[in-house]
Amino acid sequence: MNIAEFKAAVKADREALKNNQLPAGMFACTDCGTPLQEAFTGNRELADGSHVCSDCYFEAFGRELDAHPIAALRLRQFR
Ligand SMILES: [Zn+2]
Repeated sequence: MNIAEFKAAVKADREALKNNQLPAGMFACTDCGTPLQEAFTGNRELADGSHVCSDCYFEAFGRELDAHPIAALRLRQFR
């Protein structure tokens, strides 16, 4: 691949992203649709094989914690 072919490929990828078509090997967040780039958006694969960004992942995690707060430890007394 020469520089002209590389630039054409990058341009094609950007056009595809504008049309919500992802280049091969790239995932989009299943919740918000953001194209995932590990260093910028996070890329968390869930147990069902879907991928979500870190914002959506922690938002969902926070909702679960609000619904099911972590209880304080209970001390058990032994006699
Ligand atoms: Zn997201």
